[in-house]
Amino acid sequence: MTRHFNFCAGPAALPEPVLARARDELLDYRGHGLSVMEMSHRSPEFVAIAERAERDLRELLAVPDDYRVLFTQGGASLQFAAVPYNLLGRGGRANFLHTGIWGKKAMAEARHLFGEAPVAASSEAGGFAAVPRPADIALTEDAAYLHYTANETIGGLEFDYIPEAVRPDGTEVPLVCDLSSSILSEPLDVSRFGVIYAGAQKNIGPAGLTVVIVREDLLDRACAEMPSLLGYRALAEGASMVNTPATYGWYLAGLVFEWLKEDIGGLAAMEAINRRKADKLYAAIDASELYSNPIAPANRSRMNVPFVLADDRLDATFLAEAEAAGLLNLKGHRSVGGMRASLYNAVPEAAVDALVDFMGDFERRKG
Ligand code: PMP
Repeated sequence: MTRHFNFCAGPAALPEPVLARARDELLDYRGHGLSVMEMSHRSPEFVAIAERAERDLRELLAVPDDYRVLFTQGGASLQFAAVPYNLLGRGGRANFLHTGIWGKKAMAEARHLFGEAPVAASSEAGGFAAVPRPADIALTEDAAYLHYTANETIGGLEFDYIPEAVRPDGTEVPLVCDLSSSILSEPLDVSRFGVIYAGAQKNIGPAGLTVVIVREDLLDRACAEMPSLLGYRALAEGASMVNTPATYGWYLAGLVFEWLKEDIGGLAAMEAINRRKADKLYAAIDASELYSNPIAPANRSRMNVPFVLADDRLDATFLAEAEAAGLLNLKGHRSVGGMRASLYNAVPEAAVDALVDFMGDFERRKG
């Protein structure tokens, strides 16, 4: 068996010890004589798995007691709809920070369902090379909440601060964050947010599970007419088991949380490793004549590093040789081309070292 280094943007690499543990427990989960996939979600065994996962996630992120943690489905994309349904029941409009493709999709869904969704600040004029500065953010008087994407996975653009969500009259509104591609990569002050959501398939576990963290006082702002499965209150009161949850994904997420706590030592330790990985790759790109990345240094994503080759006729050779060297999934998103190396939590530092070596060698031969 050979496991290659996987730089996929998602579904992404999982920690090898997690996969090994899942393999060992696959046919007979801890002496119960069946796999987790085959268990009732109401069984004491599964309820224990589910509760442990929530406890560990709360501990990792130091989630305050007045927040509910939901394990749901539909990906981050269904949250693009769930958030406005849950927060616009008392009127007002969703406001957005526009920093790239995912935030734009979230905005488009809010507009599709509710009409106008004003842009409170945008990076578009600068080609999405930097996030808006705090002084550029202007909410509308009727803002019901402010939505932003902490890390734009395709553009490789990451906020270096948590925005304030304050209307012109000084009242604060909930801050909503799509954290799909950077959750658990560093410690986070959850108390700054009204709602956080993330698809699991990058830093949490396999695709199919979605995590939502919502402040309790926001459970009562939902629109009367919405699909009941999207309702945060119903999910919170039903312990995320309103219908059959993504049980296996939930279990694997729990194993990832244990790995983060016990093998890595928590999110501060994870942050230090992630910082080192990203610094190494950006340093290699900046030192080269062949590779470049256009993002302002303070907003360069630690998780997703897009780069282009000075001569795009070399792209196909680069990708083929990388794959032959065991460096998988370096092709950029189909909408932008070029390359992208995703360096999520489960991508080891050795993978970055191997990539940097390969890139240097490729440049010496072809550059
Ligand atoms: N938001 C961000 C920041 C993402 O990176 C992605 C997926 N790459 C999505 C939303 C959409 O996620 P999903 O496929 O889980 O709906």
